[in-house]
Amino acid sequence: MDVKKEIESLRAQLRQYDYEYHVLDSPTVSDVYYDELLARLQQLEKDYPEYQTDNSPTKRVGGQVLDGFEKVSHTIPMLSLANAFNTEDLRQFDKRMRAFGDVSYMVEAKIDGLAASLTYEQGKLVRTATRGNGNVGEDITHNVRTIKSVPLKLSEAVDIEVRGEIFMSKPNFIKLNDARKNNGEVPFKNPRNAAAGSVRQLDSSVAAKRALDMFIYSLSEPDEAISMTHSSALKYLKDLGFKTNPETTHHDNIDSVIDKVQTLEMTRDQYTYDIDGVVVKVNERTMYGRIGYTVKSPKWAIAYKFKAEQVMTTLQDIYFQVGRTGQITPVAVLEPVEVQGSTVSRATLHNEGYILDRDIRINDQVLVQKAGDIIPEVVGVITENRTGQEETFEMIKACPKCETTLEKSKSEADDFCPNPACPAKRMTGLIHFVSRGAMNIEGLGEKIIELFHNEGYLSRIPDIYYLKDHRQALVERGGFGEKSIDKLLKNIERSKENSLEQLLFGLGIRYVGAKVSQVLAMHFKDMSAIMNATVEDLTAIDAIGEVIANSVVDFFSEPNNVTMIDELKSLGLNMRYKGEPAQTTTLKDKTFVLTGTLPSMSRSEAKKQIEALGGKVTSSVSKNTDYLCAGKDPGSKYDKAQDLGITIISEAELKDLMNE
Ligand code: NAD
Repeated sequence: MDVKKEIESLRAQLRQYDYEYHVLDSPTVSDVYYDELLARLQQLEKDYPEYQTDNSPTKRVGGQVLDGFEKVSHTIPMLSLANAFNTEDLRQFDKRMRAFGDVSYMVEAKIDGLAASLTYEQGKLVRTATRGNGNVGEDITHNVRTIKSVPLKLSEAVDIEVRGEIFMSKPNFIKLNDARKNNGEVPFKNPRNAAAGSVRQLDSSVAAKRALDMFIYSLSEPDEAISMTHSSALKYLKDLGFKTNPETTHHDNIDSVIDKVQTLEMTRDQYTYDIDGVVVKVNERTMYGRIGYTVKSPKWAIAYKFKAEQVMTTLQDIYFQVGRTGQITPVAVLEPVEVQGSTVSRATLHNEGYILDRDIRINDQVLVQKAGDIIPEVVGVITENRTGQEETFEMIKACPKCETTLEKSKSEADDFCPNPACPAKRMTGLIHFVSRGAMNIEGLGEKIIELFHNEGYLSRIPDIYYLKDHRQALVERGGFGEKSIDKLLKNIERSKENSLEQLLFGLGIRYVGAKVSQVLAMHFKDMSAIMNATVEDLTAIDAIGEVIANSVVDFFSEPNNVTMIDELKSLGLNMRYKGEPAQTTTLKDKTFVLTGTLPSMSRSEAKKQIEALGGKVTSSVSKNTDYLCAGKDPGSKYDKAQDLGITIISEAELKDLMNE
């Protein structure tokens, strides 16, 4: 491929991966693979400066800001971090820093979550925002208030902005995914995506249930105003009541930094939260202004990325999976092997280019790793172990299910089955349509869909709404009780009332995930307005770029899709946006314990008011308590709450919460 074409293709791929990762919270490739492509693009742009552009993924902070959230401008930009992949990169970094004078370093665990800024006025939390595109983020105050380790009130009445990482612990992630699987919902790929997906919810009761946590890692000040070192700033933040990461250490020289980095890499599995690397920061913050910034990251810090554990096994075969959008993914069949605590027998090979670049062949000895620590992928071949029995890979030309000739995606990286009637696409499409985030039809799980699909009851989405015409046949076919069939049919009928965004998401339009569906539904209010929208109408909305706009327009210019929507309409499905998701109060589902004499209310009066706002009041403090509201002479409950790290509030603060 010529250089210009390769650069363009890399940019298109990285833009798509950025979008899936930062906006949809649902990456399709591993971070290691993403970093590899980004490093390749950086190298090409360095070698061929004539092809540099300002909007290359190498020059932008990845995220986007979605409608539905208030926007928050960051007075001090929230940037990304430059990467180091080996100790040599760290030594080079040290050399660059020492050119500015005597420096020492702070080494911090790189928590794999998402960055947020918290603003306090007079010691009270007033605003929290995501990083967004670095300059403008989304207001997520309502959700961050539900994180127990985030103090709503500091120990001093200061005006301050801090930054940190919101994350989900590994045990909570496993619990959440187990529950999602039981509910027929798509599990999150890794704790990072689960945390990001939870924080960027319009309805705070969702985030409240997700048990998020947050470490604060920096005091945000304009460079001219800095007076403290980073280590003193962290100590100060801890004294104010923030949770800071205990794995933070001070080092005078780069050898000692490298030692610590290696120790953290070796012990990363021992932590209850995911660490995807180590951040090394210059401790002398007063030098930050001088050391400076690139458009994407500060020059005074660097992120050392951990390598994933790689295990060798034999690649026995390659088959092809057809996704909901028709995307074809080659999958490796492996001799089962243990990787990071689970047995792996299948691994993604992403696409044709990925296999050809690495010359992966059937019967090869390959290296496998867990991508983003969850999805396994084949990363390379041990060519020295080849015996001559290996078969070179050839990409299929036609869909393995319906035999339609495949087409290339815009970035030319992926192959697609263009046939809207492809049975493989239809099956995965049906499963998606009924899923929780979409039409939420309880009782119509993956297995039943497969069964009904194979028996000819379900092929296209509208067929779901004709199932009632087959009630008698379904009852007679056995396998399901009459009651459960009736319950299922009732759930199907009920789904007709769903708001527009659920239906839109359920249609499975490429790039139109739950969040984009919400944005489109809020903006256009009605399905027909979305169907008639042009690319210009769509891109005029914040957060809707050309990729999404083209995908929406393409979908509705397909006559089969228009006919299907008409059919759904005539079957009685609601086609309108029904308004904001129900707002819940800050107290909803929160557990309170009351102790001591409150200044203006009796405890039973306070209990009544809390319960009226959806909160719960219990008599003893446990780890499930969200708040202890303490009055005069509080007694032992106060000590217990302190021991357990429960947020303790006064009656005045309780009233503040009630008024929110
Ligand atoms: P990054 O994750 O490499 O580093 C910056 C971030 O680190 C900060 O914004 C902050 O959120 C976090 N962080 C954690 N602990 C920190 C600490 N102690 N101090 C400071 N920051 C800390 O950069 P990014 O811009 O957030 O994301 C880019 C990376 O995300 C890529 O390198 C890639 O690995 C991954 N990514 C993956 C895909 C994919 O499809 N798999 C797509 C886009 C990005």
